[in-house]
Amino acid sequence: MIYLDNAATTKPCSEAVNAAIEAMTDNFGNPSSLHKAGLNAQLAMDKARKIIADSLGAAADNILFTSGATESNNLALRGASAAYGKKRRKIVASAVEHASVDETLSDLESKGFEVVRVSPREDRRFYAEDFVNACDENTVLLTMMYVNNETGYILPVKEVFTAVKRRFKDIITHTDCVQAYMKLPVKANSFNADLISLSGHKIHGVKGIGALYVKKGVRLIPVVTGGKQEKGIRSGTESVPAICAFGAAVEKLQPTISERFEKVSGLKKRLIELISTIDGVEVNSVDDASPYVVNISAAGKRSEIMLHYLESREIYVSSGSACSKGQQSGVPAQFGITGKRADSALRISMTADTTEAELEAFAEALRDGIANVRG
Ligand code: PMP
Repeated sequence: MIYLDNAATTKPCSEAVNAAIEAMTDNFGNPSSLHKAGLNAQLAMDKARKIIADSLGAAADNILFTSGATESNNLALRGASAAYGKKRRKIVASAVEHASVDETLSDLESKGFEVVRVSPREDRRFYAEDFVNACDENTVLLTMMYVNNETGYILPVKEVFTAVKRRFKDIITHTDCVQAYMKLPVKANSFNADLISLSGHKIHGVKGIGALYVKKGVRLIPVVTGGKQEKGIRSGTESVPAICAFGAAVEKLQPTISERFEKVSGLKKRLIELISTIDGVEVNSVDDASPYVVNISAAGKRSEIMLHYLESREIYVSSGSACSKGQQSGVPAQFGITGKRADSALRISMTADTTEAELEAFAEALRDGIANVRG
């Protein structure tokens, strides 16, 4: 099998699997229990928390564990708007957010918040000025992802947050860094971010674990209430095995971020070279997008049909966002990908372990598919 759908999920690395097994066999206690079995589980969890905090240049105290980035995004947006949004009723967001942000914003909108979604300009880029202009004294929250999951576009989070905070220091800033974490450097302070969402399964950890970085002093009203785990902000017994796997994956990947970036940039270049020889194929991702996600359009052939053709050759890619289950999201249109180009969009997402031979096999299958499938 040739797996080119790493933006949907990644294969857990052996370090993550082993850490999860160890947590399930040796450290299976409840981290809130007062006895030694509980303490051992807590120590294992604390180790992972510190590794993740260090990677962000933060303190362990700043990291809350959740069930995944969907929950992290919900907690960030709902928790901050509940804590700070009594009087300030406006939320500003990019118009290309993942459903876990966008749907949450729509819900907050139905509950009385005004949500302003800022689009990229005609050159498909976002400008700090547009976000500053969208914000005002009534704005409680600004949310903006770092790397777009459908196109790989890198959003200027640091520039936007810095410019907005300069004008409106009380606005809470949140960034969904799921597709950037462990691929590009993500640093809490230099981003001027109050809240950062992360996911374990996109970085070779296991599914069902996420984290939310919360800057010291930033208050959140809990979404999930109960036993007051995670500093009382996210109740529920922590998934120690998934947390340990998350920590092990970060420990493994953190030292090689730039090395892997270079390698995957080379792979992206090769992929574009290969597919540019196929009639009608267009590359939708810009050169300075994250090399890990490449969005292309397959000569007007419907994504789903091409996807299944490729699947018949044991090559796995995605059409648009995997989370939308075949439903087209509005995000490609924001980047100027419309009509047939959007209907035939495919997302190829790689890791540093992807090989040129795999890309060659993909390009060959794509060429055959375009020649042979209808629609
Ligand atoms: N944000 C982005 C940008 C994503 O790509 C995803 C996963 N598709 C999520 C949030 C949700 O992450 P999780 O699967 O951990 O809930």
